[in-house]
Amino acid sequence: MARYTQAVCRLCRREGLKLYLKGERCYMPKCPMDKKAVPPGQHGQTRKKETPYGVQMREKQRARRFYGVLERQFRRYFSIAAKAKGVTGEALLQQLELRLDNVVYRMGFAGSRPEGRQLVRHGHFKVNDRKVNIPSFQLREGDVVSVSPHSREMAKVKELAELAKTRTAPGWMQVDAERLRGSILRAPRRDEIDVPVKEHLIVELYSK
Ligand code: SF4
Repeated sequence: MARYTQAVCRLCRREGLKLYLKGERCYMPKCPMDKKAVPPGQHGQTRKKETPYGVQMREKQRARRFYGVLERQFRRYFSIAAKAKGVTGEALLQQLELRLDNVVYRMGFAGSRPEGRQLVRHGHFKVNDRKVNIPSFQLREGDVVSVSPHSREMAKVKELAELAKTRTAPGWMQVDAERLRGSILRAPRRDEIDVPVKEHLIVELYSK
């Protein structure tokens, strides 16, 4: 499965905001975004005139990079959202939030979305007591996510379990950090998704 493998801090510099792709490091003074960060590349500091298309494109890239989704998959999410009932932009973000790698991160069982993705790929999680190693797996209301029994003794998992105890999970899920499991109560509302993207610009971009 294709994924971005280059320096991830570069992506934050490109978007001009923190995407929180490196876990703990993102909250420390070492984060390049807490210093004077400029867009990457030779012409990074050049001021460019932004066109309406450019602004829409930037917003779409931002959303993709927050969730670590490639273009083709992102378009697929959009076409499903466009057919869904309700507001298209919200339906798009809901699908992204309900990806298994994001849910693992939101539950506090991973320090970042990329880490959540890696842990899922390595088979450390179960959904409704069945092993699932697909990061894009879509969760639904009532699904129960748990750490696989064979992974519970791993030092990394124990460290993450401690992390989960310090985190407050969003209201659309319930987490039992002691038992290393959590469940989806319902789909998240837009006001519960703290990702700073203007989804209406993405809808405008794809509706052309
Ligand atoms: Fe982004 Fe985290 Fe790197 Fe800071 S440390 S630039 S938030 S990935």
